[in-house]
Amino acid sequence: MRTILFGSLTPIHDRLIEAAVEHLGYDAQHLPQPDIEALKTGRELCNKGMCNPVYFTVGNLINFLKKEAENGIKVEDKYIFVTIGACGPCRFGMYEMEYKNALKLAGFENLKVSLLNQTTFSAEGEITLTWNFIYSLMKAVIIADILRDLGYKIRPYEINKGETDRKLSEATELMFRIIRNSGKAKDIITGLREVKKLFSTIEIDYSIPKPIVNVIGEFWVQTTESDGNYHIHRWLEEEGAEVKVEPISGWIDYQLYTEREKIFIEAKAKGFSLKLLKKLAFLTGLQEFYRHLFETFRHIVKERAGTFVSQKLLWNLAKEYYDPLVTGGEGHLEVAKHIYNVKFQKAHMTLSLKPFGCMPSTQSDGVQTKVISDYPETIFVSVETSGDSEVNVKSRIQMKLYEAKELAVEEFEKALKETNLTKNEVKEAVKTNQNLRNPFVKLSKTGLLTAERFIRGNRKEIKAFLKVKQEKKWTPSTLKK
Ligand code: SF4
Repeated sequence: MRTILFGSLTPIHDRLIEAAVEHLGYDAQHLPQPDIEALKTGRELCNKGMCNPVYFTVGNLINFLKKEAENGIKVEDKYIFVTIGACGPCRFGMYEMEYKNALKLAGFENLKVSLLNQTTFSAEGEITLTWNFIYSLMKAVIIADILRDLGYKIRPYEINKGETDRKLSEATELMFRIIRNSGKAKDIITGLREVKKLFSTIEIDYSIPKPIVNVIGEFWVQTTESDGNYHIHRWLEEEGAEVKVEPISGWIDYQLYTEREKIFIEAKAKGFSLKLLKKLAFLTGLQEFYRHLFETFRHIVKERAGTFVSQKLLWNLAKEYYDPLVTGGEGHLEVAKHIYNVKFQKAHMTLSLKPFGCMPSTQSDGVQTKVISDYPETIFVSVETSGDSEVNVKSRIQMKLYEAKELAVEEFEKALKETNLTKNEVKEAVKTNQNLRNPFVKLSKTGLLTAERFIRGNRKEIKAFLKVKQEKKWTPSTLKK
């Protein structure tokens, strides 16, 4: 049996998808994260005028195969490459052809490529897309979304540098074993309880005001944690932000919702046939089931990991600006997410990433100008990732980040005033009370800033600590009680 080769999501997603595929009895291996060498190879072998994700992902595959071949491995016999594809207006529909062309040019023309079609939910080539296959992948993607999000929520506040990443890798390996060996929802829930315990040991200090920066944009470039976007998520954290990442589940939800809407449009023109009704029932059921599964798993980590926004809401927010039926790339989502962030105060800053040569993102960017003029309070920046010009891109982001940081400090000062606390009092309470250093400590629903939600959610505990201290009755043992 050939090994299924795939990749180019985040390291956690790649690892857990590997587990899901192995659970089904296949051998699986994910590719390494793409780097600048991959971009160079992609540019050499692909057609000119493609978008950057094509160059990165195609080049990454070829570089991997070359290394394997240099080590004496007969790659065409050993591997089958599986990738996602779709038809549609953007270059996503051309990926398969680009892979095949590049494989031929690199001397691997006999390597089989199998395509999973994200819009028709079908497979071409040697893979059979059974319900078991879909269900296994769903669970892997959901767990990866949750783990990744936990990492981004906790890491900016860790007291001991590197602790979150260490626990995140332990958690990923734990879930890898569970998904590969059992895959049952009940075992996944047990595993997530262990994950929560594991993360609870990380010491954090939520009392530092950090602006929330939502990274949106083209699907691949907003997701990858590689040279493909200059490792932008980590860099933002180093610059003092809390990064809000987009879950891949949100993308799946978008695909399902769009396919449903297309049915209604078709039915409007031709009436409902039995075939259409069946398809509608399937998509509705799948979408409901997916969300239910996501929420069930997320609940275990006390909803500390984020969820994905209702597609109906995003559709309605965008429709005046961008026709949601114009699909390709992120479609209306870039515009909708920007409006959602500013209208409902879900992020201090929205950073939109546009890969070089991306048509749908260029269209969205044009529309964002109108959104900015309608919502002048927004802190929004859109940058093009070309693989070069990293310094230029980062300095543009830094300018906007400065505004977001100022806003975060203002919000924090206001919350301190309203809760009648001072920064030093909060700091001292956090330093002394271990419960306040737990990543799963209560966070108020009021406010956007984590530091604000923290002081509002734990105001009583902080005040009680101060009172005991003032009465000079405080000792470590009285505090424990
Ligand atoms: S959305 Fe843009 S970057 Fe992504 S495949 Fe389509 S054209 Fe390329």
